[in-house]
Amino acid sequence: MITTRFAPSPTGYLHIGGLRTALYNYLYARANGGKFLLRIEDTDLKRNSQEATKAIIDAFKWCNLDYDDEILYQSKRFDVYKKYIDILLKEKKAYKCYMSKEELDELRQEQIKNKLRPKYNGKYRDFTGTPPSGIEPVIRIKAPLSGEIYFNDGVKGDVKFDASDILDDFIIARSDGSPTYNFTVVVDDALMGVTDVIRGDDHLSNTPKQIILYEALNFKIPKFYHVAMINGTDGQKLSKRHGATDVMEYKNMGYLSEALLNFLVRLGWSHADDEIFSMDELKKLFNPNHLSKSASTFNQSKLEWLNQHYIKTASFERLKFELKNFGLNLDEVKHSELLINELKERSKTLLEMANMANSILNAPNSYEEKAYAKFINTQSLELLDKFSKILDGDKTAREYEDLTNKFLEQNGLKLKNLAQPLRIAITGSSVSPSIFEMMEIIGSSEVKNRIQNLINKG
Ligand code: GLU
Repeated sequence: MITTRFAPSPTGYLHIGGLRTALYNYLYARANGGKFLLRIEDTDLKRNSQEATKAIIDAFKWCNLDYDDEILYQSKRFDVYKKYIDILLKEKKAYKCYMSKEELDELRQEQIKNKLRPKYNGKYRDFTGTPPSGIEPVIRIKAPLSGEIYFNDGVKGDVKFDASDILDDFIIARSDGSPTYNFTVVVDDALMGVTDVIRGDDHLSNTPKQIILYEALNFKIPKFYHVAMINGTDGQKLSKRHGATDVMEYKNMGYLSEALLNFLVRLGWSHADDEIFSMDELKKLFNPNHLSKSASTFNQSKLEWLNQHYIKTASFERLKFELKNFGLNLDEVKHSELLINELKERSKTLLEMANMANSILNAPNSYEEKAYAKFINTQSLELLDKFSKILDGDKTAREYEDLTNKFLEQNGLKLKNLAQPLRIAITGSSVSPSIFEMMEIIGSSEVKNRIQNLINKG
């Protein structure tokens, strides 16, 4: 069975690059009736907090990404890691190294002076003497001294590392007994039965070390897929400099999670030339063999385009529910469905939609300066006043349209003479949905009030 996992280190929030990794692993498992597991890499007890873990879980919930089994917390598994360290020591595949920090620094300086790559010199690899007193040893793995570490990466193809060049007897447990990153990853991936690891290619250099550990522990090596990074438009690795990187910030900016997921899946994966994928489709057709080798570019306008698509196709009930997060409660609003339909076409985000809805539902406190200067004058105020006198009782948008056309005809005017001043009276701005629909939404007496407010100001 395909078993994948997402293994974030809780740093305070879920990065959108992390969400993409999670999504790929999730989809691969779901597309194959496999398992998708979540593991929190919280061994750095000083740095990791419960809030940071909660931030990851909240982001998963928002995105509707469900995981199988219980979440695994590395911080609760120190005894498991110790057990495997002891096995390696017993089998002499790992050893205690008593080199002091000073000695190690000296060695490093010497190597740098001689233009060598700084590297542990294997002093305690086959040590049989009496260890120096007063030093708590670290545990090092006996890495191969020569040969190649090879693996076939699902994205990059054949990857080779020269053992003598790249590797070291790297540390698997620190002097306080705590296991190191590569060690815990390998033990957990093996014990969780992970068959496929999809992760960012910033982890590529960890992989040969992990392969050495898999071999030492006689664990089956999973298939690796190292996905190219996401860059900003300037070609640099995506960071806060380029905009929001926290998944939940996208929620707060008014993106629907399906738009963000659709956007992220395409940053590094493709299926023909298709751009729009529902989660149901993705859960059927995602295949990691179509992951891209080259870095992708985070393109904000494409995300907006997708968000607009998902807003347009979302049901009224869904949008009504989502808009509550933006302070818009439509429960008591009479023509809320019409309002939402009018705004769907013109909203890139839910935030924009909520703001526009509020500007229709509530009388303006102020008027946009430029629009006011351009369209409001004695003549237009007189026209509005005259128009307001024919408004009576609530009507449908089409009835308002007929009434307005008749009024304009009788006065020898065109719609453009009335539309902008009326928009400004109703919303305070010259950009809004159709005036007829807006009149239906707020009703005649409210239109009259707002016209009167504008006249009183003028
Ligand atoms: N905890 C690692 C990270 O957050 C991921 C480990 C892995 O995927 O192997 O970058």
